[in-house]
Amino acid sequence: MNRIYETVTECRICKSKNFEIVLDLGNQPPANSLYEKDSEMPPEVPLRLMFCNDCKTVQLGESVEPNYLFSRYVWVTGTSESTKSYSKIFAQKAFSRLSTVIPSVLEIASNDGTFLKPFIEAGCDVLGVDPAVNIAKMASNNGVPTIDKFFSEAVAEEIKQTSGLRDLVFARNVLPHVKEIHSVVSGLKTLLSEDGIGIIEFHDAGLIMKELHYDSIYHEHLFFFSLETMSSLLSKYNLNIFDVSTSSISGGSWVVYFSKKRKDKTTALLTAIENEKKKGINTIAEWKSFALRAIEHSENLKKILNDSKERVVAYGASARSSTLLNFCNIDKNDIKFILDKNPMKNGLITPGTEIPIVAFDDFVNEVDKYNTILLLAWNFKEEVIQDLRSSGFTGKFIIPLPYKPEMI
Ligand SMILES: [Zn+2]
Repeated sequence: MNRIYETVTECRICKSKNFEIVLDLGNQPPANSLYEKDSEMPPEVPLRLMFCNDCKTVQLGESVEPNYLFSRYVWVTGTSESTKSYSKIFAQKAFSRLSTVIPSVLEIASNDGTFLKPFIEAGCDVLGVDPAVNIAKMASNNGVPTIDKFFSEAVAEEIKQTSGLRDLVFARNVLPHVKEIHSVVSGLKTLLSEDGIGIIEFHDAGLIMKELHYDSIYHEHLFFFSLETMSSLLSKYNLNIFDVSTSSISGGSWVVYFSKKRKDKTTALLTAIENEKKKGINTIAEWKSFALRAIEHSENLKKILNDSKERVVAYGASARSSTLLNFCNIDKNDIKFILDKNPMKNGLITPGTEIPIVAFDDFVNEVDKYNTILLLAWNFKEEVIQDLRSSGFTGKFIIPLPYKPEMI
């Protein structure tokens, strides 16, 4: 079988060879490679976090072929009410920073077009770009014009030729996943007008470090940016970050605003950069300390499971949970099955840990047989616990993260 990955020999951002591995999470199959019961097991790939001593960007030591990662399954998740309301807030924040009243807008990885809709309602000319053919088509059918391509410098040139520059370009939660990141940033610059602004949203590396979100390290997630490292990437293209806000939906993301023209940095941005410095988020020493805490955490969690051996099931078969289970050596011997509400995952097996995924309704029918649930979807804790309690579950929950595992 052909190898599906390569080990990097230089930093993806600055080309330096002066980098170090700070955390080895072992060999794991790519997190989204759930498989059918009798089919071949997915291949394992080293999962290692590395730190570039020159540009300070935290990234993975291996790249898995994008075709392998992104062509297997598309998990259609549907758009929640909270996402819709956040899309309106996101648009308001953009309008308040733009000099154009009715800007032309471009979003990359625009998915079903939810975040472009508030701009359409304000009368803006919008365009989405998304590589998933079916999703791009669905968005276009719903009134959000969308091109079905991987965004790149070449695609940006094509758009510029056919429909001109944009007053607003934005990319939410996509840059950390893109191997060809230089082509994407260069493409954003190509399409941005002289007076326009760009917006990038990304999971905050500082929060990953502080709250120990090691489960957000998986092969699809190549980069872990801080404000400083994102800023130095954009500055290679003469794009200047001038403001920042936080994302209300994930609670753990930065939203940065940048422009071609140099603008004064806002107090919010200066304060956030200062906080990053104080906490050492761009230092290898703090990432090594994060690694030690992650290892200790994984051993504690495994011990909690060993101590409460009876009738444990888990909730939420996501990419994040795949890393957590593999890194903590929690497998089918510890967890009878994982509940998941996505019908497309029902009946599949988790990669590397071989735990079957069971539909929520099937669990509800025999809810009194189980007394402990490991809450893998811990970032939706309140919502999930309420849901399980109202389904009749009266047992305990093990909450693995953030910080220390706890039993409630
Ligand atoms: Zn570097």
